[in-house]
Amino acid sequence: MTHAAVPALRRQPALAEWAEKAAAPYYDAREVPIGEKRGVTLGMGMTEKQGGSDVRANTTRAQPLDGDDYALTGHKWFFSAPMSDGFLVLAQAPAGLTCFLLPRRLPDRTKNAFTLIRLKDKLGDWSNASSEVEFQGARATRVGDEGRGIATILDMVMLTRLDCMLGSAAEMRMALAQAVHHARHRMAFGKRLVDQPLMRNVLADLAIEAEAALALSMRVARAVDAAPDDPREAAFARIATAIGKYWICKRAPAFVNEAQECLGGNGYVEESLLPRLYRQAPLNSIWEGSGNIQCLDVLRALHREPETGEAFFAELGEGLHPLLDWAVARMRTMLQAPSEGDARTLVERMALALQAAVLLRAGSPAETLFVGTRLGGAHGLAFGTLPFDEELLESVLARAL
Ligand SMILES: Cc1cc2nc3c(=O)[nH]c(=O)nc-3n(C[C@H](O)[C@H](O)[C@H](O)COP(=O)(O)OP(=O)(O)OC[C@H]3O[C@@H](n4cnc5c(N)ncnc54)[C@H](O)[C@@H]3O)c2cc1C
Repeated sequence: MTHAAVPALRRQPALAEWAEKAAAPYYDAREVPIGEKRGVTLGMGMTEKQGGSDVRANTTRAQPLDGDDYALTGHKWFFSAPMSDGFLVLAQAPAGLTCFLLPRRLPDRTKNAFTLIRLKDKLGDWSNASSEVEFQGARATRVGDEGRGIATILDMVMLTRLDCMLGSAAEMRMALAQAVHHARHRMAFGKRLVDQPLMRNVLADLAIEAEAALALSMRVARAVDAAPDDPREAAFARIATAIGKYWICKRAPAFVNEAQECLGGNGYVEESLLPRLYRQAPLNSIWEGSGNIQCLDVLRALHREPETGEAFFAELGEGLHPLLDWAVARMRTMLQAPSEGDARTLVERMALALQAAVLLRAGSPAETLFVGTRLGGAHGLAFGTLPFDEELLESVLARAL
């Protein structure tokens, strides 16, 4: 959240010190005003009791004080990392929903007027404290124009969504590493697990999924980096972030569970890393815009910013692979009359086509199996249902090993 807040803060010249210190490579845990700090941390407060996806329903009020400062009164139902130095918060100002920077300490060293009600008791994600807070006239500085709160905080949310993709791709890679390591050393029925044909199928399937997740995440990260100077990459980043956030985060829990099973009973016991990964895995698909919200965002981007659709199809190209060309034709047909109720089907297809294109362009050994199974349908619903081709599996496993 700290780094993701930097672009939004840079838009407000009065907050230059916050932007600079949020981007600085220092962790300074002291609870002092930011003028005395080398680096700061930031949180984000959007979600209220009556709704997180629908932030327009926010009821927290912002009363103008002096200059760009306002007094905030209301609550936030989810407020992670409440020990942060400041928070980007949405509240209703006279002209509508507006983004604010709410500091923890005021320049005169007093604590700002907000109360931590309780910490959330969560399924996982235990290293990150998430809280419920109430603002009692807390002083906050406006970021961006009044009434433009969603547009302003979206600068931040686009980056945290990329982080969700990278985080889920990393969880998959870590789970795969644990599974592969175990399978290389565990003997069953006289042979190492990694030499048993059915386990080879499971591991190879996980390996191509992890590689496709990482490859797409890195492709989107490259587009985000290039976006400020390249409108085509900016359009691609806009749509591919929502596509990737939906699909990669959605795949992670099933993936981690399959990797857990590769370790047998040990994968269910806290001495292995898998229970922690398993608890963490569902979170990225829930926060920063849950799955349905990402799919609806893809439809919105295609409708309101047609350049995003053009950038998406340009990335898939023509002639990379016959199955990819077929998938493109099928998507174009679906897009002639896009429907909200079919958005998941559409976005899943878009994600698989993008992953295929990225792997094909990279010349990855995973490309043949990925395209045949994820686009061509030669695959079951569970992992470990690749068509059993020893040579292809070997090439993928050798890479993963
Ligand atoms: C561990 C954790 C930490 C968090 N930290 C923060 C934080 O620091 N700051 C912050 O602001 N928030 C935080 N959140 C909140 C999180 O971003 C929200 O929970 C999330 O955005 C969903 O909002 P909601 O819980 O109100 O669910 P709802 O908005 O009620 O959504 C419930 C379900 O309905 C779906 N849905 C909603 N609208 C539609 C629609 N039109 N069509 C179809 N389906 C729809 C959603 O996709 C979701 O699956 C955190 C959440 C968690 C779990």
